[in-house]
Amino acid sequence: MRRAMAEAEVGDDLLDGDPTTGELEARVAVLLGKEAALFFPSGVMANQAALALHAERGTEVILEAGAHIFHWEMGAAPVLSGLQLRTVPTPDGVLTGAMVEDAIRPESPYALRTSLVTLENTHLASGGRVLPVERVREVRAVADEHGLPLHLDGARLWNAAVVSGAALTALAAPADTVMVSLSKGLGCPVGSLLAGTAQKIERAWRIRRRLGGGMRQTGILAAAGLHALEHHRERLAEDHANARALAGGLEEIPGLSAVVPETNVVMIDLVDPELDPDRLLSSADERGVRLVRFGPRRLRAVTHMDVDREGVERAVAALEEVVESRGSR
Ligand SMILES: *Cc1c(COP(=O)(O)O)cnc(C)c1O
Repeated sequence: MRRAMAEAEVGDDLLDGDPTTGELEARVAVLLGKEAALFFPSGVMANQAALALHAERGTEVILEAGAHIFHWEMGAAPVLSGLQLRTVPTPDGVLTGAMVEDAIRPESPYALRTSLVTLENTHLASGGRVLPVERVREVRAVADEHGLPLHLDGARLWNAAVVSGAALTALAAPADTVMVSLSKGLGCPVGSLLAGTAQKIERAWRIRRRLGGGMRQTGILAAAGLHALEHHRERLAEDHANARALAGGLEEIPGLSAVVPETNVVMIDLVDPELDPDRLLSSADERGVRLVRFGPRRLRAVTHMDVDREGVERAVAALEEVVESRGSR
Protein backbone atom coordinates (compact mmCIF):
# COMPACT_ATOMS: atom_id res chain seq x y z
CA MET A 1 0.00 0.00 0.00
CA ARG A 2 2.81 2.41 0.85
CA ARG A 3 4.47 1.63 -2.48
CA ALA A 4 1.22 2.25 -4.37
CA MET A 5 0.91 5.57 -2.57
CA ALA A 6 4.47 6.58 -3.39
CA GLU A 7 4.02 5.72 -7.06
CA ALA A 8 0.57 7.27 -7.49
CA GLU A 9 -0.01 9.55 -10.42
CA VAL A 10 -1.39 12.79 -9.03
CA GLY A 11 -2.96 16.08 -10.11
CA ASP A 12 -4.75 18.93 -8.38
CA ASP A 13 -8.12 17.50 -7.43
CA LEU A 14 -9.65 20.92 -6.84
CA LEU A 15 -8.27 22.61 -9.92
CA ASP A 16 -8.75 20.17 -12.77
CA GLY A 17 -8.87 16.76 -11.17
CA ASP A 18 -6.54 14.14 -9.78
CA PRO A 19 -6.38 11.04 -12.02
CA THR A 20 -5.94 8.46 -9.26
CA THR A 21 -8.73 9.97 -7.18
CA GLY A 22 -10.93 9.96 -10.28
CA GLU A 23 -10.13 6.29 -10.78
CA LEU A 24 -11.00 5.46 -7.17
CA GLU A 25 -14.26 7.42 -7.33
CA ALA A 26 -15.26 5.67 -10.55
CA ARG A 27 -14.36 2.27 -9.11
CA VAL A 28 -16.37 2.81 -5.93
CA ALA A 29 -19.35 4.11 -7.92
CA VAL A 30 -19.33 0.89 -9.97
CA LEU A 31 -18.88 -1.32 -6.90
CA LEU A 32 -21.88 0.32 -5.24
CA GLY A 33 -23.97 0.54 -8.40
CA LYS A 34 -24.26 4.33 -8.22
CA GLU A 35 -23.65 6.94 -10.93
CA ALA A 36 -20.88 8.75 -9.10
CA ALA A 37 -18.80 8.84 -5.94
CA LEU A 38 -16.72 11.48 -4.18
CA PHE A 39 -13.62 11.09 -2.02
CA PHE A 40 -13.72 12.60 1.49
CA PRO A 41 -11.09 12.87 4.20
CA SER A 42 -13.35 11.14 6.73
CA GLY A 43 -16.56 9.22 7.18
CA VAL A 44 -17.96 11.90 9.45
CA MET A 45 -17.52 14.53 6.76
CA ALA A 46 -19.07 12.31 4.09
CA ASN A 47 -22.06 11.48 6.33
CA GLN A 48 -22.53 15.14 7.18
CA ALA A 49 -22.30 16.16 3.53
CA ALA A 50 -25.05 13.64 2.83
CA LEU A 51 -27.28 15.06 5.56
CA ALA A 52 -26.75 18.59 4.22
CA LEU A 53 -27.46 17.32 0.73
CA HIS A 54 -30.80 15.71 1.59
CA ALA A 55 -32.24 17.68 4.47
CA GLU A 56 -33.23 21.31 4.76
CA ARG A 57 -32.43 23.26 7.95
CA GLY A 58 -35.09 22.99 10.61
CA THR A 59 -36.22 19.53 9.60
CA GLU A 60 -35.85 16.16 11.28
CA VAL A 61 -33.77 13.11 10.41
CA ILE A 62 -34.79 9.64 11.59
CA LEU A 63 -32.09 7.24 12.71
CA GLU A 64 -31.57 4.30 15.02
CA ALA A 65 -30.70 5.34 18.58
CA GLY A 66 -27.21 3.81 18.54
CA ALA A 67 -26.27 5.50 15.25
CA HIS A 68 -22.76 6.81 14.71
CA ILE A 69 -24.27 9.99 13.21
CA PHE A 70 -26.04 10.60 16.52
CA HIS A 71 -23.35 9.61 19.03
CA TRP A 72 -19.93 10.13 17.53
CA GLU A 73 -20.11 13.06 15.13
CA MET A 74 -19.85 15.92 17.64
CA GLY A 75 -23.37 17.17 17.09
CA ALA A 76 -22.43 18.06 13.51
CA ALA A 77 -25.98 17.61 12.17
CA PRO A 78 -27.56 20.22 14.49
CA VAL A 79 -24.51 22.48 14.60
CA LEU A 80 -23.59 22.55 10.91
CA SER A 81 -26.88 21.80 9.16
CA GLY A 82 -29.57 22.88 11.64
CA LEU A 83 -31.04 19.39 11.75
CA GLN A 84 -32.89 17.72 14.58
CA LEU A 85 -32.07 14.06 15.02
CA ARG A 86 -34.94 11.77 15.90
CA THR A 87 -33.50 8.62 17.43
CA VAL A 88 -35.54 5.43 17.45
CA PRO A 89 -34.46 2.83 20.05
CA THR A 90 -34.37 -0.80 18.95
CA PRO A 91 -33.41 -3.95 20.85
CA ASP A 92 -30.86 -5.01 18.24
CA GLY A 93 -29.90 -2.00 16.11
CA VAL A 94 -32.30 -2.98 13.35
CA LEU A 95 -34.95 -0.43 12.35
CA THR A 96 -38.11 -1.91 10.89
CA GLY A 97 -40.47 -0.28 8.42
CA ALA A 98 -43.11 0.03 11.15
CA MET A 99 -40.71 1.81 13.52
CA VAL A 100 -39.78 4.32 10.83
CA GLU A 101 -43.43 4.79 9.91
CA ASP A 102 -44.20 5.64 13.55
CA ALA A 103 -41.35 8.15 13.73
CA ILE A 104 -42.34 10.06 10.59
CA ARG A 105 -44.18 13.20 11.61
CA PRO A 106 -47.59 13.87 10.10
CA GLU A 107 -47.98 17.20 8.29
CA SER A 108 -48.65 19.81 10.94
CA PRO A 109 -48.29 23.56 11.23
CA TYR A 110 -46.96 22.97 14.77
CA ALA A 111 -44.25 20.37 14.19
CA LEU A 112 -41.14 20.24 12.12
CA ARG A 113 -41.08 18.13 8.97
CA THR A 114 -39.33 14.76 8.61
CA SER A 115 -36.82 15.09 5.78
CA LEU A 116 -34.58 12.02 5.75
CA VAL A 117 -34.12 8.48 7.02
CA THR A 118 -30.65 7.07 7.66
CA LEU A 119 -29.52 3.49 8.25
CA GLU A 120 -26.14 2.09 9.33
CA ASN A 121 -24.79 -1.18 7.88
CA THR A 122 -23.05 -2.81 9.58
CA HIS A 123 -24.50 -1.36 12.77
CA LEU A 124 -21.60 -0.52 15.03
CA ALA A 125 -23.34 -0.06 18.39
CA SER A 126 -24.95 -3.49 18.22
CA GLY A 127 -21.56 -5.07 17.59
CA GLY A 128 -21.17 -4.78 13.82
CA ARG A 129 -24.53 -6.34 13.01
CA VAL A 130 -25.50 -6.81 9.36
CA LEU A 131 -28.91 -5.30 8.63
CA PRO A 132 -31.33 -7.96 7.33
CA VAL A 133 -32.12 -7.24 3.67
CA GLU A 134 -35.87 -7.51 4.32
CA ARG A 135 -35.80 -4.82 7.02
CA VAL A 136 -33.87 -2.45 4.76
CA ARG A 137 -36.43 -3.01 1.99
CA GLU A 138 -39.26 -2.27 4.41
CA VAL A 139 -37.63 0.97 5.50
CA ARG A 140 -37.10 1.95 1.87
CA ALA A 141 -40.76 1.23 1.09
CA VAL A 142 -41.92 3.40 3.99
CA ALA A 143 -39.54 6.19 2.97
CA ASP A 144 -40.94 5.98 -0.58
CA GLU A 145 -44.52 6.21 0.65
CA HIS A 146 -43.60 9.47 2.35
CA GLY A 147 -41.33 10.76 -0.40
CA LEU A 148 -38.28 10.68 1.87
CA PRO A 149 -34.69 10.02 0.79
CA LEU A 150 -32.58 7.33 2.48
CA HIS A 151 -28.92 7.72 3.39
CA LEU A 152 -26.85 4.68 4.30
CA ASP A 153 -23.87 5.01 6.64
CA GLY A 154 -21.93 2.09 5.21
CA ALA A 155 -18.58 2.73 6.87
CA ARG A 156 -18.39 -1.07 7.21
CA LEU A 157 -20.57 -2.07 4.24
CA TRP A 158 -17.59 -4.09 2.95
CA ASN A 159 -17.89 -6.33 6.01
CA ALA A 160 -21.63 -6.73 5.47
CA ALA A 161 -21.03 -7.84 1.87
CA VAL A 162 -18.38 -10.38 2.83
CA VAL A 163 -20.38 -11.95 5.64
CA SER A 164 -23.80 -11.98 3.94
CA GLY A 165 -22.59 -12.93 0.50
CA ALA A 166 -24.79 -10.16 -0.92
CA ALA A 167 -23.41 -7.98 -3.70
CA LEU A 168 -22.38 -4.48 -2.65
CA THR A 169 -24.69 -3.15 -5.34
CA ALA A 170 -27.63 -4.96 -3.71
CA LEU A 171 -26.74 -3.63 -0.26
CA ALA A 172 -26.41 -0.10 -1.63
CA ALA A 173 -29.44 -0.20 -3.93
CA PRO A 174 -32.14 0.87 -1.43
CA ALA A 175 -30.20 4.01 -0.48
CA ASP A 176 -30.07 7.32 -2.35
CA THR A 177 -26.61 7.98 -0.99
CA VAL A 178 -24.09 5.62 0.57
CA MET A 179 -21.00 6.40 2.63
CA VAL A 180 -18.20 3.83 2.67
CA SER A 181 -14.91 4.01 4.58
CA LEU A 182 -11.48 2.98 3.41
CA SER A 183 -9.94 3.67 6.79
CA LYS A 184 -11.65 0.98 8.85
CA GLY A 185 -11.26 -2.71 8.04
CA LEU A 186 -9.74 -1.96 4.64
CA GLY A 187 -6.71 -0.52 6.39
CA CYS A 188 -6.12 2.78 4.55
CA PRO A 189 -4.61 5.73 6.39
CA VAL A 190 -7.31 8.17 5.21
CA GLY A 191 -10.52 8.25 3.26
CA SER A 192 -14.21 7.64 2.83
CA LEU A 193 -16.47 8.07 -0.17
CA LEU A 194 -20.01 9.21 -0.72
CA ALA A 195 -21.86 7.66 -3.66
CA GLY A 196 -25.14 8.59 -5.32
CA THR A 197 -26.56 10.11 -8.49
CA ALA A 198 -24.28 12.32 -10.56
CA GLN A 199 -26.46 15.30 -9.69
CA LYS A 200 -26.28 14.64 -5.95
CA ILE A 201 -22.53 14.09 -6.06
CA GLU A 202 -22.01 17.34 -7.95
CA ARG A 203 -23.80 19.14 -5.12
CA ALA A 204 -21.81 17.11 -2.58
CA TRP A 205 -18.62 18.47 -4.17
CA ARG A 206 -19.67 21.99 -3.22
CA ILE A 207 -20.69 20.96 0.28
CA ARG A 208 -17.37 19.18 0.78
CA ARG A 209 -15.57 22.36 -0.24
CA ARG A 210 -17.66 24.35 2.24
CA LEU A 211 -16.77 21.89 5.01
CA GLY A 212 -13.08 22.36 4.23
CA GLY A 213 -12.70 18.91 2.74
CA GLY A 214 -11.53 19.91 -0.74
CA MET A 215 -7.98 18.63 -1.15
CA ARG A 216 -5.25 18.77 -3.77
CA GLN A 217 -2.92 15.84 -4.62
CA THR A 218 -5.29 13.28 -3.14
CA GLY A 219 -4.03 10.60 -5.54
CA ILE A 220 -1.54 9.59 -2.84
CA LEU A 221 -4.50 8.69 -0.61
CA ALA A 222 -6.68 7.33 -3.39
CA ALA A 223 -3.90 4.93 -4.43
CA ALA A 224 -4.12 3.40 -0.96
CA GLY A 225 -7.87 3.00 -1.48
CA LEU A 226 -7.48 1.31 -4.86
CA HIS A 227 -4.90 -1.05 -3.35
CA ALA A 228 -7.21 -1.87 -0.43
CA LEU A 229 -10.24 -2.52 -2.66
CA GLU A 230 -8.14 -4.97 -4.64
CA HIS A 231 -6.32 -6.74 -1.81
CA HIS A 232 -8.09 -6.19 1.50
CA ARG A 233 -11.76 -6.91 0.90
CA GLU A 234 -11.87 -10.71 0.72
CA ARG A 235 -9.62 -11.01 3.74
CA LEU A 236 -12.22 -9.30 5.96
CA ALA A 237 -13.53 -12.85 6.45
CA GLU A 238 -10.35 -13.52 8.48
CA ASP A 239 -11.19 -10.59 10.76
CA HIS A 240 -14.67 -12.01 11.24
CA ALA A 241 -13.31 -15.46 12.12
CA ASN A 242 -10.81 -13.86 14.49
CA ALA A 243 -13.59 -11.84 16.13
CA ARG A 244 -15.59 -15.02 16.72
CA ALA A 245 -12.52 -16.71 18.21
CA LEU A 246 -11.93 -13.68 20.43
CA ALA A 247 -15.55 -13.62 21.61
CA GLY A 248 -15.45 -17.37 22.24
CA GLY A 249 -12.29 -17.07 24.30
CA LEU A 250 -13.55 -14.10 26.31
CA GLU A 251 -16.87 -15.80 27.00
CA GLU A 252 -14.92 -18.49 28.89
CA ILE A 253 -13.53 -15.92 31.33
CA PRO A 254 -15.70 -15.72 34.44
CA GLY A 255 -17.07 -12.21 34.87
CA LEU A 256 -17.04 -11.37 31.16
CA SER A 257 -19.67 -11.94 28.54
CA ALA A 258 -19.01 -11.39 24.83
CA VAL A 259 -21.70 -10.81 22.23
CA VAL A 260 -21.27 -13.33 19.40
CA PRO A 261 -20.09 -11.11 16.53
CA GLU A 262 -21.41 -11.21 12.97
CA THR A 263 -18.43 -9.24 11.71
CA ASN A 264 -15.28 -7.78 13.33
CA VAL A 265 -16.64 -5.91 16.36
CA VAL A 266 -16.68 -7.67 19.72
CA MET A 267 -18.76 -6.14 22.50
CA ILE A 268 -17.67 -7.29 25.94
CA ASP A 269 -19.96 -6.88 28.94
CA LEU A 270 -18.56 -6.83 32.46
CA VAL A 271 -21.16 -8.98 34.17
CA ASP A 272 -19.19 -9.29 37.42
CA PRO A 273 -20.05 -6.09 39.33
CA GLU A 274 -16.64 -6.25 41.03
CA LEU A 275 -14.88 -5.59 37.71
CA ASP A 276 -13.90 -1.98 37.24
CA PRO A 277 -13.98 -1.04 33.54
CA ASP A 278 -11.32 1.68 33.72
CA ARG A 279 -8.86 -0.49 35.62
CA LEU A 280 -9.53 -3.36 33.26
CA LEU A 281 -8.88 -1.12 30.25
CA SER A 282 -5.60 0.24 31.59
CA SER A 283 -4.31 -3.17 32.73
CA ALA A 284 -5.18 -4.64 29.33
CA ASP A 285 -3.43 -1.73 27.64
CA GLU A 286 -0.28 -2.40 29.69
CA ARG A 287 -0.34 -5.91 28.23
CA GLY A 288 -0.64 -4.60 24.69
CA VAL A 289 -4.37 -5.23 24.33
CA ARG A 290 -6.21 -2.10 23.32
CA LEU A 291 -9.95 -1.90 23.94
CA VAL A 292 -12.31 1.05 24.14
CA ARG A 293 -15.13 1.82 26.49
CA PHE A 294 -18.54 1.52 24.84
CA GLY A 295 -20.94 2.13 27.70
CA PRO A 296 -20.90 2.01 31.50
CA ARG A 297 -20.17 -1.74 31.70
CA ARG A 298 -19.30 -2.47 28.09
CA LEU A 299 -15.96 -2.59 26.27
CA ARG A 300 -15.34 -2.91 22.56
CA ALA A 301 -12.66 -4.83 20.72
CA VAL A 302 -12.17 -4.77 16.96
CA THR A 303 -10.23 -7.28 14.90
CA HIS A 304 -8.42 -6.04 11.82
CA MET A 305 -5.62 -6.80 9.39
CA ASP A 306 -2.90 -6.15 11.98
CA VAL A 307 -4.32 -8.77 14.37
CA ASP A 308 -3.80 -12.45 13.57
CA ARG A 309 -5.09 -15.57 15.35
CA GLU A 310 -2.05 -15.70 17.57
CA GLY A 311 -2.73 -12.10 18.56
CA VAL A 312 -6.31 -13.06 19.43
CA GLU A 313 -5.03 -15.87 21.65
CA ARG A 314 -2.61 -13.51 23.37
CA ALA A 315 -5.43 -11.01 23.90
CA VAL A 316 -7.63 -13.67 25.53
CA ALA A 317 -4.76 -14.80 27.77
CA ALA A 318 -3.96 -11.22 28.75
CA LEU A 319 -7.58 -10.43 29.62
CA GLU A 320 -7.88 -13.60 31.63
CA GLU A 321 -4.87 -12.49 33.65
CA VAL A 322 -6.23 -8.96 34.03
CA VAL A 323 -9.65 -10.13 35.17
CA GLU A 324 -8.10 -12.50 37.69
CA SER A 325 -5.83 -9.85 39.16
CA ARG A 326 -5.96 -6.12 38.67
CA GLY A 327 -9.25 -5.68 36.90
CA SER A 328 -11.10 -6.69 40.03
CA ARG A 329 -10.91 -5.25 43.49
C1 LIG B 1 -15.97 5.18 11.77
C2 LIG B 1 -17.38 5.38 11.40
C3 LIG B 1 -17.81 6.60 10.84
C4 LIG B 1 -16.92 7.81 10.69
O1 LIG B 1 -15.74 7.62 10.01
P1 LIG B 1 -14.46 8.54 10.33
O2 LIG B 1 -13.59 8.26 9.16
O3 LIG B 1 -13.91 8.08 11.63
O4 LIG B 1 -14.89 9.95 10.36
C5 LIG B 1 -19.14 6.71 10.51
N1 LIG B 1 -20.00 5.70 10.70
C6 LIG B 1 -19.63 4.53 11.23
C7 LIG B 1 -20.64 3.45 11.40
C8 LIG B 1 -18.31 4.33 11.60
O5 LIG B 1 -17.95 3.17 12.15
